[in-house]
Amino acid sequence: TKVQVGLLFGGNSGEHEVSITSARAIIKALTCGSNMNKYDVKPFYIQKNGVWQTGEIPQQVLDSGFALQSQSSQVWNFPSTASDMDVWFPVVHGPNGEDGTIQGLLTLMQVPFVGSGVLGSAVGMDKIAMKTAFAQAGLPQVKYMTITQSNIGSNPCILPKLYDDIDKNLGYPCFVKPANLGSSVGITKVYERQGLKPALNKAASYNHRIIIEAGVIARELECAILGNANPRASVIGEINYNSEFYDYEAKYTYGHSQLIIPAKIDDIINQKVQKMALQAFAAVNALGLSRVDFFYLEDTKDILINEINTLPGFSPFSMYPQLWAHSGVAFPELLDILIQLALEKEFASK
Ligand code: ADP
Ligand code: MG
Ligand code: MG
Repeated sequence: TKVQVGLLFGGNSGEHEVSITSARAIIKALTCGSNMNKYDVKPFYIQKNGVWQTGEIPQQVLDSGFALQSQSSQVWNFPSTASDMDVWFPVVHGPNGEDGTIQGLLTLMQVPFVGSGVLGSAVGMDKIAMKTAFAQAGLPQVKYMTITQSNIGSNPCILPKLYDDIDKNLGYPCFVKPANLGSSVGITKVYERQGLKPALNKAASYNHRIIIEAGVIARELECAILGNANPRASVIGEINYNSEFYDYEAKYTYGHSQLIIPAKIDDIINQKVQKMALQAFAAVNALGLSRVDFFYLEDTKDILINEINTLPGFSPFSMYPQLWAHSGVAFPELLDILIQLALEKEFASK
């Protein structure tokens, strides 16, 4: 009998559309070739308002590629067919998907799922927790400062002392980021002190945990990780873009950025990046898959870790599958491995 795969996509985050694109590719690759005889895929769609849909609506979204919102139900619901799944494949990016929330639900359901569990997902998604874990593991990072609710009080932006500290410790340009997002949402590159206030306000509108980093001039390298207890690292890719930084538009507008795989870097850099990516994966307790992103400062040959993404973009053109394709693992095989890793993880955790 075939393995019943629950493909969970959409979600109430800014990366809803990205998730639809990923899910379309995944369902196609799981229903063809040798995967066809192995897996039976049922799509579950989480609307932007958080309502779960099963049956015809997910299929319509997958066919059209466009988000749908049915008017009828407005409360969170759990489709009864959800309990028939043997394994879940969540491809929901950002808050309420990549941050441990869905992973907690699936854990309670006692059904295996692809990717990191609650801890790895939550630590990976929160940039402050992530950086703390990386620092503990001895991974080099850019200089940074954090602001949390306790420093902010009722007004995050009347903070001359904070501005002084940023001037002194980080300088300009610096990057102001909400701690809990992805796809560059809510991030501002700040060029002078006057720019701090609007940048902090913007970040605060997304999350009360904010991170401020010294800006570096660097090449951006990415490495894909696959596995549970003994994960492996892919070839290294590089991102090129023609904007001030790798912002939302550069990420998702066709032609605004290019992936270069493999990155044109020395062997030594290559090996260092792979090693650091594996260390980062372990540092946050990730499982299954992750994409680990780096800054490479060519002049000094320093490699700084930027972040880990425990549920990276998953269209066939996304960096994660591309890195594996260039490492000898084609897209359908990659999905097969990820599902097998999910099933194996369930045994491992017992
Ligand atoms: P996200 O999780 O939203 O992708 P990142 O922390 O990766 O957020 O930042 C998005 C992009 O912003 C990076 O890919 C890079 O181009 C730029 N960036 C972020 N932080 C820095 C920094 N400290 N120095 C230089 N560029 C940065
Ligand atoms: Mg990210
Ligand atoms: Mg990033």
